[in-house]
Amino acid sequence: MHDTPLTGYTDDIATASVTSQTGDMSMVHVAGNPALDLVGTVTSRGTLDADELTTPDVLAQWYVDAGIVTRRPMVDERHLAAAVALREHLFPLVESLAGGTALPDRHRTALNRAARGPVPVVAVGPDGRRTTSGDADACLVAVARAAVELFDRADGAVVRFCADETCTHPFLDRSRTRRRRWCDMASCGDRAKVRRYRAQPSG
Ligand SMILES: [Zn+2]
Repeated sequence: MHDTPLTGYTDDIATASVTSQTGDMSMVHVAGNPALDLVGTVTSRGTLDADELTTPDVLAQWYVDAGIVTRRPMVDERHLAAAVALREHLFPLVESLAGGTALPDRHRTALNRAARGPVPVVAVGPDGRRTTSGDADACLVAVARAAVELFDRADGAVVRFCADETCTHPFLDRSRTRRRRWCDMASCGDRAKVRRYRAQPSG
């Protein structure tokens, strides 16, 4: 296993479905890498194009839920636009990574630029817990670095898109057999199970 030290991602299949402190949204962090989860903030690319990152506030909470920082940073429209821009550079890169094709130079260069700069700092609080703090710029650098980590193939983990045709969420397959198919067992995996069940001949 080769986890990026920037985040709390450790599980093979992190199925944590996090309801945020603001209570009005449910952010899912299941991809095993925050950069892939950022790409996954758009569901059904090319059809529905449902974007979860609707406001700066949502992004601030997303950074916490993704384990980038312990406390919500100040996020304004400029930060949101930068995060969305990085996400749109990441999608074609992840497609290339998953498909084994050449990386588009323009997007690769943009990623490298985004990965420069200071990242959130870690510390031990008086309560004995680890804290991670940083501003919105540092948070985005951390996500970009997590994306760069995807290109370190030493751990043999595989980047793949969810097998649900309409989902378009990528994830990092760290399962022993490398046969993980769904971005999230609780949503896409479950829907597939229901479909298989219904397809069985009755009698
Ligand atoms: Zn899915």
